Amino acid sequence: MPVVTRFAPSPTGLLHLGHAHAALTAWIAARRAGGQFLLRIEDIDTTRCRPEFAAAIPDDLAWLGLTWDGPVRSQSAHLPEYRAALDRLAARGLLYPCFCTRAEIAREVAAAGQAPHGPDGPLYPGTCRRLPPAERAARIAAGTPYALRLDMAAALAVAPRDLSFEEVGEGRLRCDPAQFGDAVLARKEVPASYHLCVTHDDALQGVTLVTRGLDLKPATHLHRLLQALLDWPEPRYAHHPLLTDAAGRRLAKRDGAPSLRSLREAGLRPEAVRAMAGFGGFAGA
Ligand code: GLU
Repeated sequence: MPVVTRFAPSPTGLLHLGHAHAALTAWIAARRAGGQFLLRIEDIDTTRCRPEFAAAIPDDLAWLGLTWDGPVRSQSAHLPEYRAALDRLAARGLLYPCFCTRAEIAREVAAAGQAPHGPDGPLYPGTCRRLPPAERAARIAAGTPYALRLDMAAALAVAPRDLSFEEVGEGRLRCDPAQFGDAVLARKEVPASYHLCVTHDDALQGVTLVTRGLDLKPATHLHRLLQALLDWPEPRYAHHPLLTDAAGRRLAKRDGAPSLRSLREAGLRPEAVRAMAGFGGFAGA
């Protein structure tokens, strides 16, 4: 099978060395195999993403020496496609509208004492799953904003029982999507969630090898469930350790990780920045 990888940043800030590490990991995996490397801008969350950061991404990657295949896909330009995927899940009775505010959920979780936590935070207590259909319809008709949640129990009942994913170097790992509870697949202010869009696009774009940071390895359990529910193909996964600073903390903009742009403006050469990103021996495009 041809190797197709991708780098899929969210433009919530300028790219930093951690992004360079992720991009180079995917780029090298594709180029070594004579495959394809795609660039996708995950800008679905307009409350956090900014167009000027999106515009800087291709420029910073090109400066770093990376080339990508085909057009750059921007998720914000494809909302109807994500809507169609949500509609397919809804038609199978696997979604329900959730009207709860964050504060209401936090109160319920606090009242429950020891609410279980999943990779995305405390598990949703299921309040809106139990709403009678007439109540749901009335709230929607009244214009109350709502998120769409996956009914995890219903989804697990129709999905294959022995879901797993292939992690390069580790073999097949058993999936436990229930750890997410009733995951949000569309938010009130954002028409589709990261989990839905990333699995949709990896399938649509024929990505065969997903390389990304280890922080996203737990998300793969939910992504495999969505792939199974929506008849999307299963890529292989290779999660890489995150770059850390001298104190061992993962690089993040909020902790002052220098942007690629600032390193470039400070006069560093691309090869020096690639070395700082953990790819010293890299020969360039
Ligand atoms: N857009 C995600 C991020 O910037 C990465 C998505 C992925 O690689 O699956 O964290």
